[in-house]
Amino acid sequence: MKEKENILSVEDLGVSFLVKEGQFARKSQKLQAVDGVSFRLERGETLGVVGESGCGKTTLGRAILYLEKPTSGKIVFKGELVEDILRKNPLELRRKAQIIFQDPYTSLNPRMTVGSIIGEGIEIHNLAKGRAKQERVKELLGLVGLDASYIARYPHEFSSGQRQRIVIARALAVDPELVVCDEPVSSLDVSVGAKILNLMLELQKRLSLAYIFISHDLDVVAHMSDYIAVMYLGKFMETAKTHDIIHNARHPYTRALWESMPRIGKEKIVGLKGEIPSPLNIPSGCRFRTRCPYATELCAQDVPPLTEFGDGQLVACHYAKEIKDGTHVPTNAPV
Ligand code: SF4
Repeated sequence: MKEKENILSVEDLGVSFLVKEGQFARKSQKLQAVDGVSFRLERGETLGVVGESGCGKTTLGRAILYLEKPTSGKIVFKGELVEDILRKNPLELRRKAQIIFQDPYTSLNPRMTVGSIIGEGIEIHNLAKGRAKQERVKELLGLVGLDASYIARYPHEFSSGQRQRIVIARALAVDPELVVCDEPVSSLDVSVGAKILNLMLELQKRLSLAYIFISHDLDVVAHMSDYIAVMYLGKFMETAKTHDIIHNARHPYTRALWESMPRIGKEKIVGLKGEIPSPLNIPSGCRFRTRCPYATELCAQDVPPLTEFGDGQLVACHYAKEIKDGTHVPTNAPV
C-alpha cells in the first residue's frame, strides 16, 4: 500500500478579532471565530468542513493560508511551520496553497482577459514566459474543460459555471498541492454545480491535490470528502470518516444537520431549532446546548472534550454514547 504523505497539520488553532457591537459601542469585545481546532490532511485527500453560516469555517480556511492571522496554535505545511515559510519565502506558500472562492463573478477582474487572469500567477512565480506561458494557459483551459480559443475573452462573456472553471484554472496555474475551496458551488445552479464538483474530483485524482472543502451543505461535503469536520461556533463538534458521518453520526448537531437536509419522499423536514447564538455571547459548557434537545445541567457547566469512539471518530458531547444506544433520550428542554 502506498504510504500517506502529510500535507497539512493544524494544532489547537485559534483566531479572534476585536469588534464593536453596534455603531455607538465604546468598548471592543473579543470575538473568537475559531477555537482550538486540530486536524491532519494527507496528499490527495479531502477534509470537508461543514456548518451553518457564522460557524467560523470560512475564517478557518483563510487562517490556514494566513490570509487571516491566527492568534494561537500552529500550522505546519509539508513539515514546516507556515510562519517560517512566510518569513523565508512568502511566494512559496502562495504558490503551493491556493484558494477558490464562492463567487466566480467578484473573484475575476472584469478588465482582464482570461489569458491574463490565468497567466498572472505563472508570471509572478516565474514559471513560464511568452509563448510557453500562452501554451500553459491553453493547456489549463483544456484541463478545466474550456476551449483554448477562449484565451482572449473577458469574464463577462462566460456563464457562471464557465467562470468557476476559469477560477479553478487560475488556482491550478501555479501547481499547488493544497487548495482551500470555500463554498465553490453554492452560487451555481445544482446541475452546473454538480459538473464543477466532478471536475474538481477528477483534477484531484489527476494532480494528487489535497482539498479543504468548506460548505454549509452536508450532502455536497459528503460527496467530496474523505473526512468531515462538523463545526459549530468556532469549534469542531464531530470529526470522522465520511462514511461514519453519514451512517454513524453521534453528535446531536451532526444528526440535526442530516435531519434538516431536504430529501425526496421525506414527509417532514425536522430542521434545527432556533438561531445560532452570537459568537460574542457563546453559551457556557457545551456551546450547542441552547439548541440541543438532549441538554442537561451538566451540559451548561462543563465543556465536552472531543472524545474518540474508534476509527478516528471524535465527538464533543457528554452523552455521545448514551444518545447512540438510546439510553439518553431528548428532554426537549435546552438549558
Ligand atoms: Fe452538548 Fe449536552 Fe447536547 Fe451533548 S447533549 S450536544 S453535551 S448539549
